[in-house]
Amino acid sequence: MRTRFPPSPTGLLHVGGLRTALYSYLLAKQTKGSFLLRIEDTDRAREVPGAAENIVESLQWAGIPPDEGVMLQDGVIAESGSHGPYKQSERLELYQAYAKQLMDAGHAYPCFCTTERLEEMRKNQEALHRAPMYDRHCLHLSPQEVQTKLDAGEPHVVRMKVPHDRLIECTDDIRGPLKFQSATVDDQVLLKSDGWPTYHLAHVVDDHLMQIDLVLRGEEWLSSLPKHLLLFEYLNWPAPRYAHVPLLLNADKTKLSKRQGSVAVQEYMEKGYLPEAMLNFLALLGWNPGTTQELFSLQELIEQFSLERVQKAGAIFDLTKLDWLQGQWMRKLTADEFAARIRPLVAEHFPEAAADKEFTKKAALIQQRITFFKEAPDMMGYFYRDPTVSVKLLASAKQKVTKEQLPMILETLIRSLDAIPEKSWNEEGIKESVQAMMGEANLKLGQLLWPLRAALTGREYSPGAFEVAAMLGKEAVLKRLKGAKNIL
Ligand code: GLU
Repeated sequence: MRTRFPPSPTGLLHVGGLRTALYSYLLAKQTKGSFLLRIEDTDRAREVPGAAENIVESLQWAGIPPDEGVMLQDGVIAESGSHGPYKQSERLELYQAYAKQLMDAGHAYPCFCTTERLEEMRKNQEALHRAPMYDRHCLHLSPQEVQTKLDAGEPHVVRMKVPHDRLIECTDDIRGPLKFQSATVDDQVLLKSDGWPTYHLAHVVDDHLMQIDLVLRGEEWLSSLPKHLLLFEYLNWPAPRYAHVPLLLNADKTKLSKRQGSVAVQEYMEKGYLPEAMLNFLALLGWNPGTTQELFSLQELIEQFSLERVQKAGAIFDLTKLDWLQGQWMRKLTADEFAARIRPLVAEHFPEAAADKEFTKKAALIQQRITFFKEAPDMMGYFYRDPTVSVKLLASAKQKVTKEQLPMILETLIRSLDAIPEKSWNEEGIKESVQAMMGEANLKLGQLLWPLRAALTGREYSPGAFEVAAMLGKEAVLKRLKGAKNIL
């Protein structure tokens, strides 16, 4: 199957766009087909410089680069494939030729109406509570009138002629059978007065010439579908399959918007989300695997994705779910991979981390708790610097450690841990020693572990006391416990 993603370069790639691209990519890969990227840059007023680059780079980052079309080659934007060019601005002559073919066949006509006339018409329709629709004024011009205007070089657009008595039918791969009454379909502008096509003409031409089998796009295009189906019919081309994916919604069910959070893929990239987490999250926005599985690698998505399991209703963009998936994907990295990713970040703050032979082991201790790589320096700081501790942190209502008990607890810890021979300084040895302390001092495990952990890390949350103490070594542990005792 040949599928495509044809964004307009009007801004940074939107998360909804990435989801559409992902679904198209999955369907192509499932069938060992091709996924194509086309740039629909016919709306010059809305074009944003650098947007095409951002789209290509975002797809690359996500791990779903196109097989054909506009893509990155050795870091620069290039085109590849035998159906190009893949930027619509380089295909203008094609659209103009097909517009002419449609006019010659009587399926389209030139329209000379001025903006003022169209505005007036719209106002009148509004006053009569009618849907805004072109009134076909220019369809009724005589051939001579048309010729005279054309000869005089009067500016004009080309409109498609929509019959008013047709039932247009189609089966959408997500929505099932659809029926449209052609009387409600406007005589759409196909070619603007400057000779540039509208989306409606351009994508129909391209999807045909680029041999696209399935058009997967946002549901906002659903109402335009009858126009597109008519164009395929007028041009005597078989229409592709269509699938309209549901909107992404804010938690309050309004259409996902910038005002309620980030919508650009780049922002998620910069925040440090893993592409694996992002793809997993987007796949599940609207697609239900039908099982309880929640973690999906790209390969698993290729194997399991199906349009039958994509819902029609809007999908809520739930960032809590994204963060949860992010954590899950962080845990799935191998210890070596994880350490390699965070080491440069940690070394920026603690240069000794760069050559630390124990780094991978230390990193492994935080891998279970981290959400973003950038949290690593903060989470690992106590391996390289003595932490700042406070009485407030050392005491804990939950663990039943009162301020008054702290001197006794810290002294017990110092005395007993000091007695551990260097060769038994490991998690097991430390654990045994702490267990013996419980009986001797009549304390609960938490009453020893909380102050120990707090004194070693200076943090409310961290890996367990035994692991940290074993990693830090006896000398550092005793030094920190004594330091803590001194602030009491
Ligand atoms: N250029 C259109 C857009 O960005 C493409 C829609 C489609 O997939 O056909 O919305």
